[in-house]
Amino acid sequence: MDTDHAPTGPVRAQIHQWSQRLPALATRILKELVAFIYPPTCAGCGCPVASELEATLCLGCQGQLDLIRKPYCPVCGLPFSVEISSTHLCGDCLTDQHQFHRARATGRYRGLLRDIIHRFKYGGQTFLARPLAQILVAPAMELAHHYDVDLIIPVPLHPKRLRQRGFNQAALLATDLGSALGISVDYSSLKRTRWTDPQTGLSRRQRQMNVKGAFSVARPEKVNARSVLLLDDVITTGETVNQCTRVLRDGGARLVLVVAAARTVAM
Ligand SMILES: [Zn+2]
Ligand SMILES: [Zn+2]
Repeated sequence: MDTDHAPTGPVRAQIHQWSQRLPALATRILKELVAFIYPPTCAGCGCPVASELEATLCLGCQGQLDLIRKPYCPVCGLPFSVEISSTHLCGDCLTDQHQFHRARATGRYRGLLRDIIHRFKYGGQTFLARPLAQILVAPAMELAHHYDVDLIIPVPLHPKRLRQRGFNQAALLATDLGSALGISVDYSSLKRTRWTDPQTGLSRRQRQMNVKGAFSVARPEKVNARSVLLLDDVITTGETVNQCTRVLRDGGARLVLVVAAARTVAM
């Protein structure tokens, strides 16, 4: 993976921030100057792309993302490997494993999408929030088309994890997705109040126990009777978003929908 282009992301983001405070003509000149000095490159492969200031993905990389397309479970969005009726539920939804009303994810958590999410989450390449939010728009729009969405709430990190990482990846995605969809983002009503070990390598039952009681709603008046779009970067068994849904519903939320940049799909 060519990451030579990576340092330009934060620089471009910083310049983009400065440009917000300048008059229109100065902004245009600055944009052209920046594009000349730092030609826009694809966030996936580093090839030059025709783009504005933000990080983006070239068409070739977009084609490699392994996006989830129909047929999939109409409740949780799990893709089916065989052609099947659009009303057919997956095994988890048939046995009521999920608390949320509907969930959708952009793509399968493997290949290039997994690589980009890793660079974003563990490599500190926060400028990758932009291309990830861009691909989150389609599944989020599908939900917003069928249900009124009042608020986007990112899955919170424990304060200790936030200090370690320096940012909440779901919150960064929520900021960009919120501005793309024109929906406000609530960063503070849902809290992670208990430290949990990473879910990696745990069974569904162990994951359930690991996140049990880990979340709480700090400001129920903000979620009461609201329709919430809960956002996480990756869904594995769905136990984290299920636990968040449970406390949001207890806090009075009318409906909880879930959207994620990726989900793991058993081969
Ligand atoms: Zn590319
Ligand atoms: Zn399902």
